[in-house]
Amino acid sequence: MDFLDFSHICDALEGTAGRLDMTSIVQDVLPKLDEEDIPLFIRYLMGRPFPDWSPQKIGIGPNSVYDAVAYVAGRDRRAVVAAVNRSGDPGRAVEELLAKKEQMSFFSESLTLTEIGRDFTLLAATGGTKSQKEKDRVLRRLFGNASPLEGRYLARLLLGELRIGIGEGTMRDAIAGAFGVNPAAVEHAHQAANDLGEVALLARTGEDALYAVHIEPFRPVKMMLAKQGTVTDMLREAGTIAAEYKYDGTRFQFHKSGGVCRMYSRRLEEVTHAIPDVVAMLDAATPHDIILDGEVIAVRDGRPLPFQYVLRRFRRKHNVDSHIEEITLAPNIFDILWVDGETLIDLPFTERRKRLEAAVSDTYVAPQLVSGDEDEIAALYRRALEEGHEGIMIKDPRSPYTPGVRGKLWVKIKPAVDTIDLVVTGAEWGEGKRAHIFGSFLLSCLGEDGSFIPLSKVATGFSDEALQEMYAALSDLVISEEGKMVRVEPQIVVEVGYAEIQKSPNYTGGFALRFPRFIRMRDDKSPEEIESLRMIEERFAAQSAR
Ligand code: ATP
Repeated sequence: MDFLDFSHICDALEGTAGRLDMTSIVQDVLPKLDEEDIPLFIRYLMGRPFPDWSPQKIGIGPNSVYDAVAYVAGRDRRAVVAAVNRSGDPGRAVEELLAKKEQMSFFSESLTLTEIGRDFTLLAATGGTKSQKEKDRVLRRLFGNASPLEGRYLARLLLGELRIGIGEGTMRDAIAGAFGVNPAAVEHAHQAANDLGEVALLARTGEDALYAVHIEPFRPVKMMLAKQGTVTDMLREAGTIAAEYKYDGTRFQFHKSGGVCRMYSRRLEEVTHAIPDVVAMLDAATPHDIILDGEVIAVRDGRPLPFQYVLRRFRRKHNVDSHIEEITLAPNIFDILWVDGETLIDLPFTERRKRLEAAVSDTYVAPQLVSGDEDEIAALYRRALEEGHEGIMIKDPRSPYTPGVRGKLWVKIKPAVDTIDLVVTGAEWGEGKRAHIFGSFLLSCLGEDGSFIPLSKVATGFSDEALQEMYAALSDLVISEEGKMVRVEPQIVVEVGYAEIQKSPNYTGGFALRFPRFIRMRDDKSPEEIESLRMIEERFAAQSAR
């Protein structure tokens, strides 16, 4: 498929608001595509250069894109930045600049999805000292061959902000409609394969192929998530509850097969080298080929340390050995997804738990209380807090493992603090001694269509060290600058506390936070996992009811 055709489809989708209309646009195109184009078409429409399970990252910032566009358009970088500042959208700015470039079409070739795919892989793979030059070369070639419209979507894909608002649900329905299969079958395959692109290929061959999809080692599966709720509600619903401590650390997924072990973070990035000690512990804990889900915490003198200690280890790329001694990490395993070739996610939790206990030595298996007695569960909760944990997780014993789903089957019970995870979409330069770093930040939540909607500014709660960390994380992500404000690529997730959610005409989502204060960076969360506008509406309603 030509990238120009793809760009026209993106353009049509961008001008379409209704979910059903979007579904039908995609559904009509899919059956006409060649086999090799299908997975790329799906992934790129969702703004994802690689399968969701893949640790590959394109890893280029706005400046590299701007330099390449400047080169191709015969301008300097300042002209590109000025155009981005004017339009507020790097995609439109690139389109505008490419439209003005001198006639170069003599040498330009049409771009196809597969060529773009090859270049994305090249960008993700280049490392070492020569890498920037190599990346620049690839980017110049890409933009050199791009028409203005293609430039719009190429820039947005490279910068991780496609803005056409097609969500996973819409895509699932489009795949099902295109190939005449049940959306539930598509969802089933998606949970195990963690790549809608590949799922679409399978859907072409029919429903049986979708139901036959299994989890594979070294292709991490999205983590199952929890909602807030109450013991009473779950007891009423399920009769009994499986309760565990809620460990305040970092989620992991451990894969072992054929003697090779790999560790993945909650964002499904490979972290094997950051925590080799934990990998060795888990390797020794089981003779099986296996995929385990758990939380790793930092401990000192038998008590858990705050979450930041674990993050420090995850962030650290060098000098791991010296750090191992300072911070002891302990894994707590609470689920099993796959063992010796068998996918277990459809089994009820009680069954999975039995398989977990049979396959792994109990040293690292999170203790569990199964009970129908509210007082007994309350006692466990108190003990969890006394021992320094965050609270408890209660789980429906009948529940399958639902990757990526934040449902009622897992519920977190912890002391009521109103905190919220949001993504940084802007920042403002500080003043005085902080003039060279950012001093306040614009935070956004997730809209229904995958866009980011501003909700609040936060300027308090930061230590000097935290501000430095924020600056280090954001400075390469700046998209545009206007006066003291910068707009940044939505990549960095932070947790903030607040007193109240208010209705507000100042923000497009209609809500704002009262007294927001910074609590911590959440490197372990991806921007897709932050609070949605819908969840904020729910919080607002619950707050009003209180
Ligand atoms: P929070 O911000 O409250 O930590 P979260 O947004 O990180 O929550 P949730 O889905 O709300 O994620 O809570 C589940 C998280 O709690 C899991 O992702 C995991 O990291 C952690 N956790 C700790 N102990 C357990 C446990 N026993 N079972 C499942 N998850 C646990």
